[in-house]
Amino acid sequence: MSTTERPRILVVGGGYVGLYAARRILKKMRYGEATVTVVDPRSYMTYQPFLPEAAAGSISPRHVVVPLRRVLPKAEVLTGRVTTIDQDRKVATVAPLVGEAYELPFDYLVIAMGAVSRTFPIPGLAEQGIGMKGVEEAIGLRNHVLEQLDKADSTTDEDVRRKALTFVFVGGGFAGAETIGEVEDMARDAAKYYTSVKREDMRFILVDAADKILPEVGPKLGAYGKEHLESRGVEIYLSTSMDSCVDGHVVLKNGLEVDSSTIVWTAGVKPNPALARFGLPLGPRGHVDTSEKLQVQGTDYIWAAGDNAQVPDMVGRRAGNPNAWCPPNAQHALRQAKVLGDNVISGMRGFPQKEYSHANKGAVAGLGLHKGVAMIVMGKVKIKLKGRLAWYMHRGYHGMAMPTWNRKIRIFADWTLAMFLKREVVSLGAMETPREEFYEAAKPAPAPAAAKPEGEKAKAS
Ligand SMILES: Cc1cc2nc3c(=O)[nH]c(=O)nc-3n(C[C@H](O)[C@H](O)[C@H](O)COP(=O)(O)OP(=O)(O)OC[C@H]3O[C@@H](n4cnc5c(N)ncnc54)[C@H](O)[C@@H]3O)c2cc1C
Repeated sequence: MSTTERPRILVVGGGYVGLYAARRILKKMRYGEATVTVVDPRSYMTYQPFLPEAAAGSISPRHVVVPLRRVLPKAEVLTGRVTTIDQDRKVATVAPLVGEAYELPFDYLVIAMGAVSRTFPIPGLAEQGIGMKGVEEAIGLRNHVLEQLDKADSTTDEDVRRKALTFVFVGGGFAGAETIGEVEDMARDAAKYYTSVKREDMRFILVDAADKILPEVGPKLGAYGKEHLESRGVEIYLSTSMDSCVDGHVVLKNGLEVDSSTIVWTAGVKPNPALARFGLPLGPRGHVDTSEKLQVQGTDYIWAAGDNAQVPDMVGRRAGNPNAWCPPNAQHALRQAKVLGDNVISGMRGFPQKEYSHANKGAVAGLGLHKGVAMIVMGKVKIKLKGRLAWYMHRGYHGMAMPTWNRKIRIFADWTLAMFLKREVVSLGAMETPREEFYEAAKPAPAPAAAKPEGEKAKAS
């Protein structure tokens, strides 16, 4: 951390909002006007809509993350976690990756800490579940699924095999439906290389407490998405939930019980719980309460946006709904970040700030190679697409929305290569314990048994 004479704009979180807001501030700022400091426990921003494709191996996981230090060369990037904010003294406490926590003074503050998986106290979930919020989880899920196929192909134990080949996904929103669609596609492809594992031997199960999946694309396309996944053999159980999954024994509320080695939890998100320690005004569900100018209510030097903020939806409010809030998605996060960046500059200079107002432009979802749904909103007209065309829309939209040309080109290159080469289906599960084999080789040999006294040797012989 550098000491600075200039005012410091501290951006807490380097995800969608943090990255785009910092870029905007740096672009609009005069030379030397302020120091922009971005703090995040990861040194990269994750483009979450591509995680399902990374889990399926259609995109290299390295290409769905954006290194913060490279894209923000004029910012100070600190790898650590902001643990508390003292508003009276205007200091944040930063816990770095290693070493003692320290205090970081700031003049202006941007809260962009996003959301975490929303979980419930379900027996077994913490031990068995895997989320889908980070690239580490996407890589882990891919290796794990392929490893289950390896296990099933090599065992003679029918129970082990059945458990390995049963995949349970809880939550049918964007993250869940796209992930099961992509992973099923990958497993179907991979099965071609196994002697005793066929797609028909696998069970893919999607569970949701709501009565529909993919609510983001509307009821008709959601129903199409469901039918489509079912046509590929995915079992979908709606209006039900998972009661427990101790040791992988999954019990659903509707009475179904299965043993599964893979339980993927994508049942929604909640605002980052660390916010509770910041002393900021929070809404009923734990979001930072912001005005339509993205300023935290009751402050004139703190702004917030994205999944950790409750931002009034001005389009909905003008249409007569006084309780309209922006949904937590990338579409809003990206646009809010730009307005927020402008407002920080205006706030710092004492100029009036802009209101955030954005009409929903629709949603796109990929459900595996060449499969998808898309709803494009143009004024009052909603265009609904499904199948291959929707999938192209999904790839085109997200490919272009991916930050930096470096990442866009790498992603389009991954897709182009995949058109000519077969999908990579190797499991590198050992990556998670890379030192294990070396440790076995290098650990000291056990001490030889102590030599017995001469007399005893004679007795023994
Ligand atoms: C699998 C998946 C698929 C999705 N698909 C779509 C889609 O198709 N379309 C769409 O519109 N949206 C989609 N979304 C939602 C979208 O990705 C989010 O709405 C968006 O990322 C929110 O941006 P954010 O900046 O608020 O949070 P994030 O991008 O999550 O960034 C938050 C950052 O804060 C950091 N942080 C956390 N705690 C601290 C701390 N204490 N101190 C400092 N930093 C901290 C985190 O490390 C992270 O980098 C998807 C989400 C997921 C998980």
